[in-house]
Amino acid sequence: MRVIIIGAGVVGLSTAYRLMKDGHDVTVLESGAYGEGPSHGNDAMVTNILSFPVPAPGTISQAARSFARPDAPISIACNPDLGYPEFLLRMAAATREHAFVRGTIAQDVLSRITFDGFDEFVADGLSFEMHRKGLLHVFESAAEYDAAMRLFEGFPRIRERVEPVVGHAALAEIDPGIDPAFTHGYFAPEDRQVEPVSLMDALVGALREHGVEVLEHTPVEGFVRNADGTVRAALTRSGAFDADVVVIAAGVGSRRLARELGFALPLFGGGGYSLDIACPDDVQPRTSVITGRTHIAISPLDRGLRVATGMIIGQRAPGVSQRRLERMVGHLHELYPTLRHVSAELDLGWSGLRPMSADGVPVIGALPGADNAILATGHAMLGLTYAPATATLVGRIVAGERLESDALLLSPERFVRRLSLGGRR
Ligand SMILES: Cc1cc2nc3c(=O)[nH]c(=O)nc-3n(C[C@H](O)[C@H](O)[C@H](O)COP(=O)(O)OP(=O)(O)OC[C@H]3O[C@@H](n4cnc5c(N)ncnc54)[C@H](O)[C@@H]3O)c2cc1C
Repeated sequence: MRVIIIGAGVVGLSTAYRLMKDGHDVTVLESGAYGEGPSHGNDAMVTNILSFPVPAPGTISQAARSFARPDAPISIACNPDLGYPEFLLRMAAATREHAFVRGTIAQDVLSRITFDGFDEFVADGLSFEMHRKGLLHVFESAAEYDAAMRLFEGFPRIRERVEPVVGHAALAEIDPGIDPAFTHGYFAPEDRQVEPVSLMDALVGALREHGVEVLEHTPVEGFVRNADGTVRAALTRSGAFDADVVVIAAGVGSRRLARELGFALPLFGGGGYSLDIACPDDVQPRTSVITGRTHIAISPLDRGLRVATGMIIGQRAPGVSQRRLERMVGHLHELYPTLRHVSAELDLGWSGLRPMSADGVPVIGALPGADNAILATGHAMLGLTYAPATATLVGRIVAGERLESDALLLSPERFVRRLSLGGRR
């Protein structure tokens, strides 16, 4: 089949690679240069334990309390877009217990197969930077830790992937640089670090080597449709690209493309930022770490340490202030006091807009009203992690396979239902 992939971020490129391997005639259309969006400077964590969507019970009140504090870990930005109030209401609805459970089950479909996807890349001979250093979530009190562990209740298959770490001495065995103020945590020993640019370079190299065109600076501006609503071609300034199937993996740009096809996809940007710090070997952290109170995430990479934070819901364009970066580095120093002596060049700060669906869960499936247009977006905090798993699901959809009921929870059909704020909590 002729498949057009719109968007050359980590999700679009992984999907192009899967479909190429499945024998399809694939072309990738990218509005800028490949891999320059949020896929570029993310925190490099590949995890199978963080299947919980961002809108969790309590998230909205936490974000609302942070409204006047732009440096808070989760905040809500102003956005004049007419679809934004409904998006926020849908997000509020998604914090209800049953929606959170459904979202976690849906995301775990991806978590369970994601490592296989990365292993397949390696088995195919793709060369990219990957480490298996695990992920440690750390807390400064038993109360914080207990609250975090309660999230796993009801999800035994996720719970069994983590090991509780109680007492600072136990944390220090995993990473001796962690400050004694951190007393509790849980460790996911199988989690990995994948440097995203090296992965995307490897994918583009393999695609081009096999004759797949990755056309940069070729934004898709619209579609030609058949009488039954299906897509016949993607329109660009350099002409129409005929397609049997179109995959919309355009990150935050997916909303506009879905609208072109008559579907109101509730998806906005979720801003975040990161900084690379060159660390001498003796103070380089040994594992990825996420902190409970301050919500910073760090990953040790070949070039040094990547530290990231921020979830600015509804942010319209990437951007980060010096003040936010300073605060993030301050939180890093609270976690690793030895890093106080390592210089952090704040002018190297990077920021990106994650594609964030209203319920925080990826949107993978045929677009309502255009059966041969498949959405593959909305991965929020976990787009790098879920890219190969998303590619696998899209490959199955293109092959006409029937997905199991948990995987169908990822379908955009869930947004066809009218918003309801009443009912079950
Ligand atoms: C600070 C930060 C830290 C993060 N840390 C992690 C992490 O540790 N682990 C993890 O798994 N995830 C992480 N993420 C999330 C992850 O980076 C994103 O979910 C992921 O990059 C989304 O990839 P994507 O391919 O869907 O979108 P994008 O990377 O946005 O790619 C979409 C592409 O589509 C193109 N496009 C848009 N519109 C059009 C159009 N009309 N025509 C053609 N092309 C178009 C864009 O130019 C872009 O290149 C983090 C994100 C941030 C911001």
